[in-house]
Amino acid sequence: MGWTIMIHGGCGAMRPETVSAGQEEAARAGLEAALDAGTALLSRDGSALDAVEAAARVLEEDPAFNAGRGSVLAADGAVELDAAIMDGADRSAGAVAGLRTTRAPISAARAAMEHSPHVLLTYAEADRFARAQGLEQVANSWFVTPERKAQLDRIMAAGGKFDSAIKYGTIGAVAVDSGGHVAAATSTGGLTAKRWGRVGDSPLIGAGTYADDRSCAVSATGLGEAFIRAVAAHQLAMRMMLGGEELGEALDAVLADVGSLGGSGGLIAVAPGGEARWGFTTPGMYRGLACSSGERRVSIYGEADDR
Ligand code: ASP
Repeated sequence: MGWTIMIHGGCGAMRPETVSAGQEEAARAGLEAALDAGTALLSRDGSALDAVEAAARVLEEDPAFNAGRGSVLAADGAVELDAAIMDGADRSAGAVAGLRTTRAPISAARAAMEHSPHVLLTYAEADRFARAQGLEQVANSWFVTPERKAQLDRIMAAGGKFDSAIKYGTIGAVAVDSGGHVAAATSTGGLTAKRWGRVGDSPLIGAGTYADDRSCAVSATGLGEAFIRAVAAHQLAMRMMLGGEELGEALDAVLADVGSLGGSGGLIAVAPGGEARWGFTTPGMYRGLACSSGERRVSIYGEADDR
């Protein structure tokens, strides 16, 4: 059987006239590198689970995206990281929220899945767990870039309100491997100027991340509050499994439902049969796809050949 990997680096108000050539080049290079990491594993019969973790790690390390280094800042100026991973073969899942010192949030989520009896670990105790698992710890300032600091200063100067021209830079990956198993991974710094220990959809299984071999694997980006209320990723899977909808039809219906709750965003999804779809209700979404058939693509803006 063939394999497919699909990734996103967040969605938002990106248009050719608002993204500089440098930003576009950096984002495209990051997406290509993430596809390379996933493809290297899948093409050697590696698992979808390993592939989505590897792709997510590349994007976490890349300051062009809102995950790991280069994440957006909370209102107090700190970076707080959320991530989740899920294996569609047995629906095992792991997630972390509010990490401040763990360099690789997606690997912490995987460690929670494989080496703890729990699904979701939070805040300082979650960092402590990751450290005990041998995952590298860094100062919170290591995640902070001057661009994100300036972005927070702008938003705080405007009263701390969310920016309607926001770019949701969360990263995610979904894959189906040659054994027909699917997996999903999502990692994020959340929303700029978030407060009160806010946790978004990304680390919530069923909201921003979900994988089930009986339907599909899903990763979301966008206004997390709306994706949580729509239980977006799980809704997509259930539309297929219980409602008999096609992947693309289910994905569009979920984005419409998120929209009805006042949220915009994007979704990527793959099914065990190899079908892969993406969709977004913002002007653009950083995204990429690679398949065993040789098809490979990285896109940012809305395009005629969209899937
Ligand atoms: N969905 C993320 C959150 O609400 C934000 C994003 O997609 O960038 O935390």
